[in-house]
Amino acid sequence: FKVPEIVNEPMRSYAPGSPERKALQEALAQMEKELPFEVPCIVNGKEVRTGKLAKQPMPWDHANHLCTYHEADQATVASAIEGALAAKAEWEALPWNDRAAIFLKAADLVSGKYRYKLMAATILGQGKNTWQAEIDAAAELSDFLRFGVQYVEELYSIQPPKNSSGSWNRVEYRPLEGFVFAVSPFNFTAIGGNLPGAPALVANTIVWKPSPAATYSNYIVYKIFEEAGIPPGVIQFIPGPPAEVVAQVIAHPEFAALHFTGSTFVFKKLWKDIAANLDNYKSYPRIVGETGGKNFHLIHPSAEVKNAVLQTVRGAFEYQGQKCSALSRLYVPSSAWNGFKEQLLTEVAKLKVGPPQDWTNFIGPVIGRPAYDKIIGYIKKAKDAGGEVLIGGSGDDSKGYFVQPTVILTKDPKSVTMVEEIFGPVLTVYVYDDKDYEKTLELIDTSTAYGLTGSIFASDRKALIHASAKLRNAAGNVYYNEKCTGAVVGQQPFGGARASGTNDKAGSISIYYRFVSARSIKENF
Ligand code: GLU
Repeated sequence: FKVPEIVNEPMRSYAPGSPERKALQEALAQMEKELPFEVPCIVNGKEVRTGKLAKQPMPWDHANHLCTYHEADQATVASAIEGALAAKAEWEALPWNDRAAIFLKAADLVSGKYRYKLMAATILGQGKNTWQAEIDAAAELSDFLRFGVQYVEELYSIQPPKNSSGSWNRVEYRPLEGFVFAVSPFNFTAIGGNLPGAPALVANTIVWKPSPAATYSNYIVYKIFEEAGIPPGVIQFIPGPPAEVVAQVIAHPEFAALHFTGSTFVFKKLWKDIAANLDNYKSYPRIVGETGGKNFHLIHPSAEVKNAVLQTVRGAFEYQGQKCSALSRLYVPSSAWNGFKEQLLTEVAKLKVGPPQDWTNFIGPVIGRPAYDKIIGYIKKAKDAGGEVLIGGSGDDSKGYFVQPTVILTKDPKSVTMVEEIFGPVLTVYVYDDKDYEKTLELIDTSTAYGLTGSIFASDRKALIHASAKLRNAAGNVYYNEKCTGAVVGQQPFGGARASGTNDKAGSISIYYRFVSARSIKENF
């Protein structure tokens, strides 16, 4: 058995007058007409309406909300866990090619029948513009599903290379004993699908708590899994009050793994809570997490400025800086700064801010009230500490949570917005003296707790290699002469170490190892 050749889902252009633009416009119009939707929990394939209602707002429009959802209560969480455990045996017994087919079909539903619906939910609910929604909900999600099948097939085929005479050694990749808990973020619908999807592909069953701010798009993802044939109970969809659901789930003795994307703070708390409960578990839980970042662009004096500026604008401001990978600290040599600054400010001034379904807006809203306040608060802190706002610096929360793309110049490379994660459209620039280049490399490496992404811009190849070696542990994903966001499944395995996560690399074979428990078998003939 061999899966068909997997290729990355091609991106569509959405050019004015194109059929895809028309189809997306129709999907958006229909969704806007029909909202708000009602979203239940789904346990064992059945809808559960707890009556404990919460809303998913639309961050660009305070007057309306996208959906009302039923928060999981204690009884629902308990039955989700029991159901996931009960579904294990049958799911595991399904031949691999039948399991794989479900995921390949789900990918086709994502990239075909539900493409525009899923994008519309991501645009209206999570505030992405069309291209960001296309990258995420259409391309990356189908890629995760399709490449996952290829990686798992590869994983299953990895066998011990040696047999002694008269015997046969082999390895069997069992799912984990117990259930997997997936806790997914608001910022990528694709990650919403991958966090339950990846462990389910290797025959685990999953309790999935989506982000409250992505409930509706994630519910569509769940329904796609269901239509593709995932059996009841294999993925339990339980939106819920995060703290309560999490506490109840990790207290269960059969909790076997956490698959998490979200903040460093929450991940650390979860890890400590899990550690405190260790004596109650059957196995040591696997903990897989992708968390924050404080990602950098380093401009070497030999860099080609025009490209570095354009990449910088995209890295910092696409999706309002709300990617874990987003650029937020920039190091420019004083010899290049004047020209760089002029081009940078010209480009940033072109970025239009407004509702995400308006095709002319590059910058949409940030996700909600706490995010808005935090971002505006950081801009104030930077100013109070002597930072100079070169452009932007303000917001407008009258209709939605809009923050102007902001560039801050600092003289202190360890100032608060150079070291702490903001998760918004704020870029801080430190201009280094060319003669302090080596010191700057050290600063980049040591001044933050994170290690997710970073880019080095240089046309001198020796400089690239030198900086890359010095910054070896500063980023799990490093780019040469390109922005530090936008890892592609099957091309750049994604993840970082230090405070950025366990670096298990989403979009690669390594992530699947974390959700299997190998058994070695030796048979004598
Ligand atoms: N994989 C995405 C990128 O490379 C970021 C994912 C995230 O924000 O967690 O831009």
